[in-house]
Amino acid sequence: MAERIAPGEVWLVGAGPGDPELLTRKAERLLGAASVVFYDALVGPGVLDLAAPGARLVHVGKRSGRHSRDQKTIDRLIVEAALADERVVRLKGGDPAIFGRATEELDACRAAGVPVRICPGVTAASAAAASLGASLTLRGLARKLTFVTAHARAGEALSLDWAALADPQATLAVYMGKAAAGEVSSRLIEAGLPGDTPVALVENASRADEATLLTRLDLLGFAAEAALGDGAALLLIGEALRRAGRRARGNGRYSTQVKSGPAAGHSSAPRATS
Ligand code: SAH
Repeated sequence: MAERIAPGEVWLVGAGPGDPELLTRKAERLLGAASVVFYDALVGPGVLDLAAPGARLVHVGKRSGRHSRDQKTIDRLIVEAALADERVVRLKGGDPAIFGRATEELDACRAAGVPVRICPGVTAASAAAASLGASLTLRGLARKLTFVTAHARAGEALSLDWAALADPQATLAVYMGKAAAGEVSSRLIEAGLPGDTPVALVENASRADEATLLTRLDLLGFAAEAALGDGAALLLIGEALRRAGRRARGNGRYSTQVKSGPAAGHSSAPRATS
């Protein structure tokens, strides 16, 4: 159904992982109807091109470690725009309801009596699976899919339920996990997950500069440090990733594939790298 934004209304819109083709049709319509668009650092430029020519585009990307103050500012800007009768789109990378601070913005709007709705988007894990040509679930082997964030507040250790996460029958999609990749690896192994569990790192999924790396859990920290650049990166961990492939896309920056030893019962031969 076609969606219009009424003056004074706010939509939290999922921008997807970067490729404008992965925007929903609803998101595209909402973007075209907005008078002001508040967008995140993770929103790709091709997506912003879909805003109406006269729309005001406001970058409200946050810097790590300053989240709470900046979030309040964003909440205030959105509410003020709506109260000034603007048609407001708050454009967020991926899906707004997944690690997107949507609750704060929903609460701020509701507290001010501003109507607010959500338009879902393609989350990074879905885009990463597509990049790898792999399923995140696997009949009998990966019956559970867990979305977890490995972002710790500045100066604090990660506090996650490692015993629950170290489930050999699950796939873990770790958001914001680049800095903590080494800790994720050692804690999961300590909690019982085998060191040869397959891992895929996907950076800038769906973007022109997308890059993927297949490795194993015990090498994850090293691989992340050696291979990941400045882009948004997702860690995918679990048996389902053993079937991950590599599309002929990306910049070929990752030139090595770490292969599992023969004892791991690896079913596929290591692929040639691009
Ligand atoms: N709401 C977003 C997630 C925001 S948290 C979503 O649904 O996708 C930000 C984290 O998402 C990044 O640190 C990274 O782990 C992941 N991410 C977002 N876009 C990505 C992309 N294009 N490729 C890989 N990871 C991405």
